[in-house]
Amino acid sequence: MNLSKRVLDSSFSATVGIADKAQIIREQGRAVYDFSAGRAFEPTPAYITRGTIAAINAGDTHQTMARGKTIYRNAIAEKLKRDNKIDADPEKEVIATMGCKQGLTIGLLACINPGDEVIVEDPCFVSYTQTVHYLGGKAVKVPLKAENGFRWTKDDLEKAVTKRTKVIILCSPHNPTGVVHSKKDLQIIADVAIKNNLIVITDEVYERVVWNGHKHTNLATLPGMKDRTITLMSFTKSFSMGGWRVGFIYSSENIIKELEKLQQHLITSVNSFVQIGAAIACGKPQDEVLDYWLEWEKKVFYCTDYIDGIKGLKCHRPEGGFYAWVDISQLGTSSYDFTEQLLEKESVAIVHGSSFGEFGENYVRFTCVKSWDELEEGLKRLKRFAQSH
Ligand code: GLU
Repeated sequence: MNLSKRVLDSSFSATVGIADKAQIIREQGRAVYDFSAGRAFEPTPAYITRGTIAAINAGDTHQTMARGKTIYRNAIAEKLKRDNKIDADPEKEVIATMGCKQGLTIGLLACINPGDEVIVEDPCFVSYTQTVHYLGGKAVKVPLKAENGFRWTKDDLEKAVTKRTKVIILCSPHNPTGVVHSKKDLQIIADVAIKNNLIVITDEVYERVVWNGHKHTNLATLPGMKDRTITLMSFTKSFSMGGWRVGFIYSSENIIKELEKLQQHLITSVNSFVQIGAAIACGKPQDEVLDYWLEWEKKVFYCTDYIDGIKGLKCHRPEGGFYAWVDISQLGTSSYDFTEQLLEKESVAIVHGSSFGEFGENYVRFTCVKSWDELEEGLKRLKRFAQSH
């Protein structure tokens, strides 16, 4: 069979692939403790599901405008104003997407021609480099060094820019390291983008899950950045709505217009009633979800402190996000072997750091937002495994 080089040359997603593998093991009747993909244990809050079910029952089951339902876009504009101090025109500056991954795909499609270069963080979320590859671009990895607090220096970033560079992809709060970029960090990126006429695609899916008083800053609010930023947002993480596949993009009118063409041809529209759920999630967060966020902060710190106490492992408390980014360098094993053996010997699924990039090699990623029972058992098993090295 003569399949495309683009698919043949690509690899499976480590995050989704390992979670799928864990599910298959579970369906075969074997217990497995799954801390691989960033999926919280809690269901979507009932105030969101209730309104969505009412929409289905009321017959809201037809395709919508490609840019998204008016009610959803208005709710997005209100959310951006309330939470992010951004004044967005709901007619021209936002568009509904099927989560951040689909937003990333159309965002990149609008920006790059085959052969163009896209700067990504190393480590970065596993699907960025593959998506660039699918679209014929070349991902250029710029390391996030531990000694720089997993942050880019201006020098590192500037050295990576060539005549072919079109886009920088950024993630803050960062998956997998847990760094929340400060205004100062973002200013470095803004300066390089403006100087070299680049677009920045910023994945802000973890914007609400920031810990210990850290504040999320939207890159688009920095001077001169609004028109060159494609902001990806979704409800997957903060509202435990991963299965809904819904989010949105905020950008300039010029860019949104092009994205609308892509949505019309590629998906027609995001699922109709799902947009109602997302519109509800855009409202002022209710107690149910505020409780989730408090609980997640406790779990994240509990796990990272526990792991840091295991001999041979090192782990900092993250500033945001769901993950423990665990330094395994003292154990003298590759991150891939570590995760494979942990699954085989202790039935614990986590993600090897090398899947996030070369600079992730000495690390593994552990998702902390599972049930307390799963966490207790999983951490006990992780400790037993690490100590057997
Ligand atoms: N983004 C999440 C993660 O890093 C979910 C998995 C995925 O969609 O790839 O685990």
